[in-house]
Amino acid sequence: MPVTRLQNYIGGEWVDSNASTTYPVTNPANGEVIGECPLSSADELDAAVQSARAAFETWRRVPAQERVQYLFRFKTLMEKHAEELAAIVTRENGKTFSEAMGSVGRGIQMIDTATGAPSMLMGQALEDISAGIDCESVRQPMGVFACIAPFNFPAMVPLWFFPFAVACGNTFVCKPSEQVPFSQKLVWELIHEAGFPPGVLNLVNGGREVVESMCSHADIAGVSFVGSSPVAEKVYATAASNRKRVQALGGAKNFITVMPDADMVHTTNNVCESAFGCAGERCLAASVVLTVGEAHGPVRAGLQEQMEKIVVGDGSQPGVTMGPLINAKSKQRVLAFIESGVAEGAELVVDGRKATVPSKGFFIGPTLFDGVTQDMKIATEEIFGPVLCIQQVASLEEALAIAKAQPLANANSIFTSSGKSARQFRYEVDASMAGVNIGVAAPMSFFSFGGAKGSFFGDLKAHGREAFDFFTDRKVFITRW
Ligand code: NAD
Repeated sequence: MPVTRLQNYIGGEWVDSNASTTYPVTNPANGEVIGECPLSSADELDAAVQSARAAFETWRRVPAQERVQYLFRFKTLMEKHAEELAAIVTRENGKTFSEAMGSVGRGIQMIDTATGAPSMLMGQALEDISAGIDCESVRQPMGVFACIAPFNFPAMVPLWFFPFAVACGNTFVCKPSEQVPFSQKLVWELIHEAGFPPGVLNLVNGGREVVESMCSHADIAGVSFVGSSPVAEKVYATAASNRKRVQALGGAKNFITVMPDADMVHTTNNVCESAFGCAGERCLAASVVLTVGEAHGPVRAGLQEQMEKIVVGDGSQPGVTMGPLINAKSKQRVLAFIESGVAEGAELVVDGRKATVPSKGFFIGPTLFDGVTQDMKIATEEIFGPVLCIQQVASLEEALAIAKAQPLANANSIFTSSGKSARQFRYEVDASMAGVNIGVAAPMSFFSFGGAKGSFFGDLKAHGREAFDFFTDRKVFITRW
């Protein structure tokens, strides 16, 4: 297959980037280079921002009811091309086709929710706040917004932001991950076909230079970031100090507590899917199972049984249930975690290094550690790969204390048949996405998404009602005639 050099989409047109450096986009299932992603310059970002800024003056005056008609057309096109898009996600990211279809479906739901803008944008009013004086508040768009996306959900993550931003009357610049730029190429082709006015939605491919320019650009009103915590924190600090709105979603270390009274078949099915779905490259992936008391034996046995059913391979092939990691560097990083677990004395129950995997590509089989303790690296650091740890605890209180000591508080779950334990868990857990008898606590488009503590930097989270708050300013009028 010929290697494609990606273009930018600025002012309603596809334009070549003049970048001299490119990132080689690879198919992680076989290591083949499938594209060159230009690492665009600050000037190219500026061209996109100026186009978005000019378009804002007109777009903000288009009635919300008319703005969402573009989104309805875009949604229909996304549905028509869902399988094509999912195949691209699999090719550039490695997740299986059915996982990719799931992520595309989740992305389309964002467009659904954003089309509620005419209702969601309504303001508030009160007559006679003082004698003869009326007060009302309206929501107004703010200008140009930007998003910076990670590699692990190439189609879905930008959809967490731009449908809401433009439904609210803003204009937008998106920077996909340079590792997986092809999914957004198709998404932007569909945006073009849906007929959005030039400049409303722009795409700039690139890396660090584009991100840093977004964080300091005077004409960008707000930045949405999704990626690792060190970069999230830096983006938050820089963009906020440049007086922008920022929502920066970072990394995760997710714990699943299993009580002895849990339904063990349901539990181990769910924990297995949570840990090894998308090869563990999910911010909602289970990383450590905290087994309370007698739960340990059945959880360990059940997980081993479930893990035997996992078929590792090229995610585009039927029957494959787990794909590769994104690249050679990620594979090396995960292998180093496995080695550190062994060196620190954990019991390697299932060794993914020994799994039968295709010879090319960045594969590691599902891996299970038992006897994990709090002082080990695998117990506390984000692995972002198919490695699950079992850590034994004596009580729910001990499990909660371990989870609460973790800064990357994104998603935590409990498996139990006790309402009392579930309530205590819900009440006390720090992670802002919490599941009860659910392995992947993923809020849908009409609820907000984002973690807590070192996993999230900002105030307003992604999608749901909070999106309408993030992408608008509330202006108050006080009137006396
Ligand atoms: P990453 O932080 O390496 O990259 C994210 C984005 O930031 C990319 O677009 C990249 O080009 C840019 N970037 C990378 N390094 C940069 C730097 N030094 N300066 C400026 N920009 C930089 O993350 P990733 O590896 O693409 O994604 C995996 C991470 O994302 C994991 O930590 C995962 O937990 C996290 N994630 C979090 C969520 C969430 O909802 N909290 C969702 C998905 C992924």
